[in-house]
Amino acid sequence: AATASSKSNASSKTNNFNDTITFAQLADTFTNIESTSKRLEIADHLTQFYKHVILTKPAELLMTVYLSLNRLCPDYEGLELGIGEGLLIKAIVESTGRTTAKVKEDFKKAGDLGTVAQLARKNQPTMFKAKGLNVPSVFKNLKEIATASGNQSQTKKIGIIMKMLTNCDSSTNEAKFLIRLLEGKLRIGLAERTVVVSLAHAIVLSRDEKATKEDLEKGVEVVKQVYSELPSYDMIVPALLDGGINDLQERCHLTPGIPLKPMLAKPTKAVSEVLDRFEGKSFTCEYKYDGERAQIHYHDGKVKVFSRNSEDMSNKYPDLVEQLPRAIKPGVKNFVIDSEAVAFDKQTKNILPFQELTRRKRKDVKVEDITVKVHIFAFDLLYFNDKPLLHEDLTYRRKLLSENFVQVEDEFAMAKSMEAQSTEEIGVFLEESVRDSCEGLMVKLNLGESAWYTPSKRSMNWLKLKKDYLAGAGDSLDLVVIGGYHGKGKRTNVYGAYLLACYDEDSESYQSICKIGTGFSEEMLEQHYKLLNPLEITVPKSYYKLGTAKPDVFFEPQAVWEVLTADLSLSPVYTAASGEISERGISLRFPRFIRVRDDKGAEDATTSDQVADMYRNQASAQQKATKADIDD
Ligand code: ATP
Repeated sequence: AATASSKSNASSKTNNFNDTITFAQLADTFTNIESTSKRLEIADHLTQFYKHVILTKPAELLMTVYLSLNRLCPDYEGLELGIGEGLLIKAIVESTGRTTAKVKEDFKKAGDLGTVAQLARKNQPTMFKAKGLNVPSVFKNLKEIATASGNQSQTKKIGIIMKMLTNCDSSTNEAKFLIRLLEGKLRIGLAERTVVVSLAHAIVLSRDEKATKEDLEKGVEVVKQVYSELPSYDMIVPALLDGGINDLQERCHLTPGIPLKPMLAKPTKAVSEVLDRFEGKSFTCEYKYDGERAQIHYHDGKVKVFSRNSEDMSNKYPDLVEQLPRAIKPGVKNFVIDSEAVAFDKQTKNILPFQELTRRKRKDVKVEDITVKVHIFAFDLLYFNDKPLLHEDLTYRRKLLSENFVQVEDEFAMAKSMEAQSTEEIGVFLEESVRDSCEGLMVKLNLGESAWYTPSKRSMNWLKLKKDYLAGAGDSLDLVVIGGYHGKGKRTNVYGAYLLACYDEDSESYQSICKIGTGFSEEMLEQHYKLLNPLEITVPKSYYKLGTAKPDVFFEPQAVWEVLTADLSLSPVYTAASGEISERGISLRFPRFIRVRDDKGAEDATTSDQVADMYRNQASAQQKATKADIDD
């Protein structure tokens, strides 16, 4: 594991906090990570640092891990940083004595407020050398800032930020990374999977200095697997400190109350492609309902509903929480169900379009005020009566599901399914699903290990077959709105067009993919303006890869839109997936807005790898078509 020699611990200033991990040590590690793009080196810097923490201050490992991920707690607790530019600029101005104009000017040049704060601290004349920060106090203060609410909260936040900035040791990079953490955008090129690798390596090495390559690989495999079932460092880090890698799987596993990232499917373009991919294997076809994914957890008599993104939606769906127990048979103690929540008309007994679901309020929902009712279509059972079922095959999981839950009219049913074998049978079932207001089919392997539930994976063992694909339009993309163009004529008070981007997981950057300006009604444009205007930022993020696109304004990466395209082409302007197919990026031709994807965060957007895959698939489909023409 030790490829790069880590200077982080040795070179860090030791200050008056010998008994804690200094923030300067963490900032040094971040600097080392940011200065390389080599995955092994990044992992090694972090491993050495975590190992140092484990051997000197194990109680601070959890905080250190969270800070490296720019998080404060597990996702599902919903506590987030993301302090706006305005507030941070104010805090920098007030604590360093610079003028607002100077700070803004520096920001325009540097494109990163962290660097601006760092500069301001360096050039600030002070009487005493600041003593520097430490990891526990930074973590505590960040949590306090994230939880501050009420009318005095802005003043309180500024107060805490200023105090921390004043204490930053200007001979280190503390100020730079403190500001970036506050923004909620650390962006040092550290992917979560690297954090998991380094955590596993550090634990193994701290227990056995002479651990072999195999020991380290085994450690990574175990921690990865456990984290996919139980995505909570709150649980995993103490367990690792306590007993290392050994029997971690027995001590930490899927637990009701802690949402796991859902399994996802690969797109297919035609019924025949399903049979090509699943040839000779046993599979089940299910309706693909068009609603919102709902992971339902039940334990100690309580129901919780989590979104695709692990957000707790129990308050958004109090009606689901109330109606679900009616579907549970006696003898059921606890479970985790994977399902789709769909808008439903009780009078006509019809599934309603997805758009109806978006008409529901998102916050402070009261059961008595709900007009759009939801129906659950359950398609998987992941945990049942104290047992995780991820390593059981789909046939068994579905059997338990149908045996232990009852259909409740207008409220709860199993997803409609069928064991189809031939193209004709699948075709007929697909048509039926569309007639029943579904998006198409999900086709899943159902026997043996390839039919296990693999959390957070876009798996080849689940295929989606949407009716839209069949019309030749291809899969839709979920893209992040990163820029806007001022409208003209009737559109002067709104944005007339937008710049969209896909997400590149490796470089943690947003890559421009197209400008979209058609397909919006006036009303839609006004709605988008209302949502996007507060997200306007003055300078594009350093991690926006714009190419030569020049929008008039930029946005925080937040809004995700589903978009359809006629096809994908290589582009001299945009940067999506550049380097994958050619040096040029890929862009969408005739992009058409479909809907806002509230259930996806910016980092859940279509990735550049997926864009490259779509381009390749399209190319091979074209080749096939040309070949067919020639054969004819
Ligand atoms: P999209 O929903 O746009 O297709 P996605 O990225 O959210 O994309 P996919 O894996 O592509 O997820 O499609 C699966 C989605 O379809 C699930 O997230 C779920 O919300 C929905 N769905 C509806 N019916 C089923 C079903 N029977 N099995 C699995 N997922 C289903």
